[in-house]
Amino acid sequence: MAIRIEVDPDLCQGHGVCESEAPEVFEVGKDHKVVVLDASPPEDQRAAVELAVKYCPTHALRLTDT
Ligand code: SF4
Repeated sequence: MAIRIEVDPDLCQGHGVCESEAPEVFEVGKDHKVVVLDASPPEDQRAAVELAVKYCPTHALRLTDT
C-alpha cells in the first residue's frame, strides 16, 4: 500500500505543526499555507505523517492508503 496525503487548504492556518513533525513531507509557504512536498511519501515517513495528521490543530490533513 502507498501513502497518499490530502490537504484541505481552506482549513490550513499555517501553524506549521506538520512541518515540525514531517519536514521532508510538509513545508509552510510564505502565504502561511502548507505545501505538500511529497504527496506519496515513502513508507519510512508514515509515522511522521501520522503525527502531523494527528496534531494539525485544524484537522486539515488526511492520510489514506492507496
Ligand atoms: S499543521 Fe495543519 S494548519 Fe498547520 S500548516 Fe500544517 S496543515 Fe496547515
